[in-house]
Amino acid sequence: MADETTQIGPVILLGPPGAGKGTQARNIVERYGIPQISTGDLLRDHVARGTALGLEAKAIMARGELVPDKLMYGIVADRLRAPDCRRGFVLDGFPRTAAQAGWLNAFLGKELFDNSGPCAPLVLQLVVDYGGLLLRLTGRRSCPTCGRLYNIYLQPPRVDELCDVDGTPLIFRDDDREEVIQGRISAYERQTKPLVEYFREQGRLVPVNADRELPQVTAEIFGVIDDHRKKCELAAMKTGSAPRQSN
Ligand code: ADP
Repeated sequence: MADETTQIGPVILLGPPGAGKGTQARNIVERYGIPQISTGDLLRDHVARGTALGLEAKAIMARGELVPDKLMYGIVADRLRAPDCRRGFVLDGFPRTAAQAGWLNAFLGKELFDNSGPCAPLVLQLVVDYGGLLLRLTGRRSCPTCGRLYNIYLQPPRVDELCDVDGTPLIFRDDDREEVIQGRISAYERQTKPLVEYFREQGRLVPVNADRELPQVTAEIFGVIDDHRKKCELAAMKTGSAPRQSN
């Protein structure tokens, strides 16, 4: 793991449902000691607790559509202001629309991180062939205790439907049903994919071929993050400033 004082900065994972954002986010968390901010998980938590936001989001999520932007900003801002985000964080599932990307840019610049130059957020685009997504999503299972992800076809647990780590029965996400998946993929195509161009124009986008064995994808991601960090540290040394503001 990177030492506890190293600034990693914001890492954004972009890619369609089933591209492996959650799995790679967890690997990044383990290696760099920064938190994973998954808006899907935050929303599912609201749904489970029956909050006002959860009640509003529940039916939208069940249809595979996106929750309105305005509902997202509060939960993301609250989470990013938590002290554990000061060294950086990995965003999984946010931003998902052009409006969310603009909001994040303004929020980071204003409140958290230097938002331009070599220390700007790193955007990793997980590139996958759409043909494989159905298997990835319908086979996905997760452990409600430790959050570990499995795929009954591609990365099955040692014992059928039980978590390798703690033996908890694995769960299936309601929106991983075949009839919902198409809606999620079209929402991605329509609302999220344009962000690829947006981040490319800003020079922040690094495409990663995510159609390979998981360890290969993870190794490439770690390499990209390490390079990004070095460039950021070097730039900070040149200007004599700290790589990131840690307020
Ligand atoms: P996936 O990326 O595999 O589709 P997530 O767990 O990231 O799954 O998201 C599940 C659902 O939560 C989405 O289909 C959507 O309804 C909602 N959601 C998550 N993040 C956002 C977001 N940034 N904006 C709007 N809706 C979101």
